Amino acid sequence: MIILDITRLIVLLNIYRMESDNMNKKMLISWFSIYLSITLIMICGITVLDRADDDRQFAKNAVAEEESTDNKYIENNTQVIDKEVEKIEKETFVENNANDKEKETINVDDVVVHMGNGKADRTNVGARIFTDVDPDKPMVAITFDDGPDAKSTNLILDALDEYDARATFFVVGYKIPDAETTVKRAYDIGCEIGSHTYDHVNLTTLNKSQRRIQLNNTKKMITAITGQKRVLLRPPYGATNEEIIKEIDTPIILWSIDTEDWITRDPEKTVDNVMKDVRDGSIILMHDSYEETAEATIELIKRLTDEGYQLVTVSELGYHKFGGLARGVRYGAMYGDE
Ligand code: ZN
Repeated sequence: MIILDITRLIVLLNIYRMESDNMNKKMLISWFSIYLSITLIMICGITVLDRADDDRQFAKNAVAEEESTDNKYIENNTQVIDKEVEKIEKETFVENNANDKEKETINVDDVVVHMGNGKADRTNVGARIFTDVDPDKPMVAITFDDGPDAKSTNLILDALDEYDARATFFVVGYKIPDAETTVKRAYDIGCEIGSHTYDHVNLTTLNKSQRRIQLNNTKKMITAITGQKRVLLRPPYGATNEEIIKEIDTPIILWSIDTEDWITRDPEKTVDNVMKDVRDGSIILMHDSYEETAEATIELIKRLTDEGYQLVTVSELGYHKFGGLARGVRYGAMYGDE
């Protein structure tokens, strides 16, 4: 382009030289200036267009590259987890129902949560609701994050089993292979198993593919061990945003009482933090990776039971307080319709 214009310029200068004697010089100079301006504008315009084209191509390449990296990432991670799930299925199969208390449950496959505006939600399909709860008496859900831990989680399960109480364990995927029989035991004594992601990561810092791996892989492992159809999510740090809420096909469970057990590591303080705020519908946050928490749980079960609270799973609490839990809704407490 530039070469073409330089050629034209040379040609013009030659014409000017040849014809300057018998032409009106002023006319030729104005004509020449106009020509030069137009050429300059054309050069600038084409450069800008070229650059925009380059930018578009660059952005396209970047997206394609990211998509292919994401697909590889999903594929690699899925293969690893599928192998793990296969192993879990083999190992826990023999123990299936060995410890099951075989309590009676309500079939909630047909429970539909009405969301208003004619919308309904069927995410309650598969929730396990036991019949030994009196819906007119107060109830709370104790929840444990960051496990399973073959040692401390089992101490907690001993206590729950002894008092015929239930809790919900939000497990971290990468810890499951070291304690899969513990997870199975929890489920068999009536507890609910929820997901706390695979690597205990803040979901808001990940892209969509990474989030999918964090959620799907943990869910697959939980389903392989327990057969649970629905797996509730407790996001690490309670961190979510509107984009994540739209993506997630399960209710999101936060808490109403933070025991701070992992900070104080003091069973007495943990119990006090619950007893001063507890009420019908509370969701209590604890962490089963500490033996001090196991110690606190034993005391807590006694105190709460003495005060007339029934200790239920999160899904049970949701069922009795709201008729079920809906996807994409964050629950911090379940006081029911007040
Ligand atoms: Zn956590």
